[in-house]
Amino acid sequence: MRSVIPDYLAEALKSAASLTSGELADYIPELAAADPERLGAVFATVQGAVYGAGDIDTEFTIQSISKPFAYALALSDRGFDAVLARVGVEPSGEAFNEVSLESGTGRPLNPMINAGAITTHSLAGPEGLTPAARTERVIDGLSAFAGRRLRPDEAVCVSEMEHAHRNLAIAHMLRSHGILTEDPRTVVDGYTRQCSVLVTARDLAMMAATLANRGVNPLSGERVIPEPVVRQVLSVMFTCGMYDAAGDWATQVGIPAKSGVAGGLIGALPGQIGIATFSPRLDPHGNSVRGVCLFERFSSDMGLHLMGVPPAARAVVRANHVVGSGPDAVRVFQLQGGIGFAGAERVVHEAVESEPPETRVAVDLTMVYAIDDVARRMILEVTRRLTLDGHEVYLVDPESIMPDPDPGDGGRVTVVDTVEQALPSPHTADPGRSRARTYGA
Ligand code: GLU
Repeated sequence: MRSVIPDYLAEALKSAASLTSGELADYIPELAAADPERLGAVFATVQGAVYGAGDIDTEFTIQSISKPFAYALALSDRGFDAVLARVGVEPSGEAFNEVSLESGTGRPLNPMINAGAITTHSLAGPEGLTPAARTERVIDGLSAFAGRRLRPDEAVCVSEMEHAHRNLAIAHMLRSHGILTEDPRTVVDGYTRQCSVLVTARDLAMMAATLANRGVNPLSGERVIPEPVVRQVLSVMFTCGMYDAAGDWATQVGIPAKSGVAGGLIGALPGQIGIATFSPRLDPHGNSVRGVCLFERFSSDMGLHLMGVPPAARAVVRANHVVGSGPDAVRVFQLQGGIGFAGAERVVHEAVESEPPETRVAVDLTMVYAIDDVARRMILEVTRRLTLDGHEVYLVDPESIMPDPDPGDGGRVTVVDTVEQALPSPHTADPGRSRARTYGA
């Protein structure tokens, strides 16, 4: 059987191809020479599956799509405080090349507009690197996100530098405010080189998938940036990634995204997928016309809006039932899925409401695949309170999903592999019983 996803993508591209409005970016002469009809789309999942249709291996320059990744590198290399002291996180609501600096401090409003991105570039790598080594650090970092060695397009880089008056003006302003501390031309040169790195839609989807996959490249397995940095970058993409169209984008599409003037567009949906499209004609905001249309369609066809999450929390308590009878009976709370705060609240609610009359209570984690830290603490607190109420508490956890299951402070749980092991003899003859471990008082 052929996969359904490339067919879906091919069909979506066919309908987007009828859109011929928009203009090529011409303020960088080399970009004005691009083929306006190029069109491609790629999905890369966090499991590393890649689906594409159209021009997915055509190279073009990354341009502003480099900004969130360079921001991620600066945050990883210098730490949050050093970067936030120089670049804010407020949407500017203005065009990408507007000189939007915070009044008083001169700090660029966010790292997605050019003022912020030029500053961010200067913060990549450890302090004291030469400008060339810093640019190398950025290109290395972009390559790690993509999972292959990337290189700049010299012609585009030279072409942009020859006309970089506006970015130079921005950099001089930043220098006058002390936000940049070195020669403005050198920094703009490095930033322009960063923007001229050649990528394909396939590369961009993989870079976005690395953000969606908590900072780990799904194919190479390399951790490129730490998790707190991923959260920061995706938040800024969500609020500022689409320049002065950010609000429209957040409501219509609802995927953290970034566009570039060469026609690329990426979206990263945390925990699910990285998406990239390529089509060079741009709308007045500087976003790809067909790319925006494709993302709107993908979001609504596949329910990808970040605010439209499935009702998972209700299903965390799969069953609340009794195994065995009489004094042997065990009350079993059978849980399932990935458990975060809302799911753990369901467990608390169930334990409080059912006030189990049975002495033995088992929390069955056999069908749970993940428990985050807050859920872990809440569930262990439930087991502690059950102990204090006189219950004998079991955690059925054959895969050791619950790290460090000690409820502390008077709580006591016995970790077993099956519900049967929570039953008293003769069931205790079960050889698996020898694996039972008791934690707490
Ligand atoms: N290198 C471009 C510039 O700084 C990037 C702009 C963009 O892609 O939005 O003008």
